[in-house]
Formats: sequence, structure tokens, C-alpha cells
Amino acid sequence: MNNQSVAVIGSGIGGIATAIRLKSKGFDVSIYEKNSYAGGKLSEINKDGFRFDAGPSLLTLPDLVKELFVLVNKNPDDYINFEKLNSSCKYFYPDGTIINAYSDIDKFAQEIENNTSDSKQSVFKYLKNSENIYNLTSKVFIFQSLHKFSNYLNRDVLKGIINIRKVDVFRTMNQANEKLFKDPKTIQLFNRYATYNGSDPYKAPATLNVISHLEHNDGAFIAVGGMYQVVKSLIKLAKDIGINILYNSNIEKINIENNKIKGIKVNGENKEFDLVINNMDVVNSYKTILKDQKMPKNILNQESSSSALIFYWGINKEFSQLETHNILFSDNYKKEFDYLFNEHEIYKDPTVYIYISSKKNKDDSPNDCENWFVMINVPFNSGNENWDNLIKKSKKNIINKINSILSTDIEKYIINEDILDPKLIETKTSSYRGSLYGISSNNKYAAFLRHPNFSSKIKNLYFVGGSVHPGGGIPLSLASAKIVSELIDKS
Ligand code: FAD
Repeated sequence: MNNQSVAVIGSGIGGIATAIRLKSKGFDVSIYEKNSYAGGKLSEINKDGFRFDAGPSLLTLPDLVKELFVLVNKNPDDYINFEKLNSSCKYFYPDGTIINAYSDIDKFAQEIENNTSDSKQSVFKYLKNSENIYNLTSKVFIFQSLHKFSNYLNRDVLKGIINIRKVDVFRTMNQANEKLFKDPKTIQLFNRYATYNGSDPYKAPATLNVISHLEHNDGAFIAVGGMYQVVKSLIKLAKDIGINILYNSNIEKINIENNKIKGIKVNGENKEFDLVINNMDVVNSYKTILKDQKMPKNILNQESSSSALIFYWGINKEFSQLETHNILFSDNYKKEFDYLFNEHEIYKDPTVYIYISSKKNKDDSPNDCENWFVMINVPFNSGNENWDNLIKKSKKNIINKINSILSTDIEKYIINEDILDPKLIETKTSSYRGSLYGISSNNKYAAFLRHPNFSSKIKNLYFVGGSVHPGGGIPLSLASAKIVSELIDKS
């Protein structure tokens, strides 16, 4: 039985998952969270009878969540259930075209054939290619550390290196999609997957087409009761197995002596620990709790991923033409990304994402109402933006777009509102510049430039979550927890 003590800094999904994994190996684990609630970016808002998932809205690879229950001999079904969506997203184009991305691949491919100049076969070919890339890359880039030399000597990595062309790292996502599809609508639909990790499809490598494999071949899921159930169920599990969870506990410093972890300073008090797992955003960590340590600048100076502006609207009407996930596409996707990543501004006709969890979870809104999560991608907060003005301007543009595409007057039906912007995301979660997914994947070497999951200088210090390897999003944050736990096994 291992009885070493572990402090986990932060109760983001990566922090909680690592805590559970280490507890299952016998460590004595405490989670310190600066907020009064768990989950970090994965959180919820309750307002006037409406419940909103405040952050993530779409889940792939739910087995990575279930695995955590199985690890400690619990039945996941006693804690959480996932429902596979019949349609992962409904796409609305400015010219009136509508494409429903049915989870049945044949039906989805038929939608593409019916509404674009592309064939069903081209969709099958695209999804097969995405699956092949996933099979070649997942073991190498997602489920192991890229920063341990010994990991480069195994069969999976050698296979990935031999097949480097098939991994499609040398073309951009847009170039690959333009080669395969003829119709700008199909290209726009598949280019959108770059935004799933806050990147630009006109810069990011086509390797990112793996994301659509997960959604279309594997499935898009919603947690019964809403996405925040993922956090609630894992926190319940953590308590059931004896993990200490301390809220309102701001870590001020990671204490280090002779290049080895000594403990943490929390709310003014020093506490000793054998290991520290840091789930706080890595850039802001080096600026605060690790400020005595040299910042690995080449890693930390990478471009941040994009952020988001979200309006949470209680709507006192039901819109039968909408699904759980909906996209109202911009008229000029290239321009939208130029604005986001080159101009650091917001395009006047942004792509609008509307997520309505009450379509599935009726308790999320009062009768005859819907809970709208209305999001656009915006630049990370560089400090030069006037967010009050941008929010005002964007709200007008979003409302115009919704009104024109859905032939409605949406303002009439908004009965309450909450807003999340990049500055607030940073205040609430400590995410550097309010970016959603750590560094962007706009650079084809990004996978190698993320901060490792361990410190090469400080013994027993580990890093987990969306700002470090293998990257942002719930599945990758869960993968980082798995990597950290395996690194500790091998140490
Ligand atoms: P974080 O969520 O970053 O949490 C870190 C925690 O550490 C926070 O609770 C913070 O309070 C705490 N902390 C920080 N500093 C300290 C300190 N000094 N002391 C104590 N505690 C501290 N992903 C998807 O997979 N699908 C989606 O649809 C999706 N949509 C998103 C939409 C939005 C609006 C946002 C914001 C994110 C979205 N993501 C999505 C990304 C996903 O939420 C993140 O990648 C993931 O939740 C990051 O988890 P993490 O483990 O890095 O921890």
C-alpha cells in the first residue's frame, strides 16, 4: 500500500481524474480548489428556473470518464449516464441550406449528397481517412508523454513515423478538405472541427481531422442531467473513495527544496506533501505559484487558442427547427478566421453556435421554454481589446443573424441573460488570456511544443489538464491524467 501524500492544485476535469487515479493506487490525495465549486471550465449556471452548462457542451469518448469509476471498482451507471445524440449538429447556411449531421453515417452522407455537390462516397472516404489518422496518432500523440525518450522506441511510435505522410501533417485542414470535397458548404462543415481545440483550419495541420472521426464514427454524447453531471458524479466518486476536497483554497506557491517538492502554500499556510499535481493553467502557474522557477519560454510563448463569447439566454418559446447543437454559419469562413487569429478582432458575420440542453434534459428549463447557450469564437484576451464594446457590437450581429436565419425576432423571447467573455474566463479559471484550450494547434509542431506532464527539474512535480500535453478539451484533459498517473508509476 502506497501512502505518499499528494496535493492536486485545481479541480478541473484533469485534476479530479488524476486524483481518482492516484487514490486507486493507494496515495493519500487532497484536491485544493480556489473557487467555491469544482470543475473549472466545466461548470454550470442556475438562473430563474433555467440551468445552463457554462462551458463544454459536447462530449466525445465518454468511456474515458466511465473508466475512472471502473478503476475503483464502482459501477459508472450508479453515478452517471450518457446519451448518444441522433444528430451531432444541425448546420444552417446563409443561403438557406440546412444539413443535419445525423449520427447514422449513411444518413449523414445522404444529407451531404442531397444538399451539396459532393457525393456520399466522398463523405465515407473522408471519415475513413480520419479514422486512419486517429489509429496512427492516438497512441503516440494522445495517450503517452511525448517528452520521454523511451516512448520513442515502441512499435506504435515507429509505425506513426513510418506513416508520417498518412498522418497529414504537411497540409492544412482546409487544403485537405478542399482536395477531397468540391462544395464550399461541405468544406466549411468539416473545417469547423479546427475550432474544437481553438485553432484555425487555414493554418492547423490536417491531422486535426481526427476530431471529426471521434464525433462521427464514435459518436457525440450528452450526459443525462447536463454536462456538469460529469463533474458532480466524479466529485461524488472522489468523496466516496476518501479523497479530501478543499474549496476556497487558493494555492499561493508550490514549495520546492533542493529541486524536490516540499509542499504547497495555501491561504497563507505551508503544508507538506510528497507529490504535487498542478492542474492550474501552466503559463499562469509560472507567473504565480512557480514564479521562482525559470519559465520554459520556447514552450510558453506559443500562440494561445481562441476564446469565446457566450450569451446564456432563458428563452420563453420553443424552436422546433433547432436541435440540441446548432451552427449558423458565417458567410465568409476564411475572413472570420483572419479576424480571429490575424487581426485579433471579431468578424461582423460570425458563426453562431446555439446549444440547447433542454431539448434533451427537460428539467433544464421551465415548461414551453428553452435554455440557449449562444456562443461565438473570439480572440484570446491580449489586453488591448475593449470587451464592453465588442460584446455590445457582437450581440447585435448575433441577433441579426439568428433573426435572419430562423425568421424570428429573438429579442422578444429573451427573459434572462448571463454573459461569459475571455476576461471572465481567466478570472474564474485562471486560464491564460481566457483561451479555451491552452495553446492553439495552428503550428504543425504544436503537439511537441506543449508543456510536458512532468517537470524535468523538480522531482515529484507533475502537470495535468488542457494547457499541457496532449492539449485542451475534456477527452485530452482526461488523457493527460492517465499519462501523469503512468509517469508516477514509472518514476
Ligand atoms: P480547468 O477547467 O482549466 O480548471 C482548472 C482549475 O484550477 C479551476 O477550477 C481553477 O479554479 C483551479 N485553480 C487555478 N489556479 C488555482 C490556484 N492557484 N489554487 C487553487 N485552484 C486553482 N471541451 C470539450 O471537450 N468540449 C466542449 O464542448 C468544450 N467547450 C468549451 C466551452 C467553453 C466556454 C470553455 C471555457 C471550454 C470548453 N472546452 C470544451 C474545453 C474544456 O472545458 C477544457 O479543456 C477542460 O475542461 C480543461 O480542464 P482542466 O483539467 O485543464 O482544468
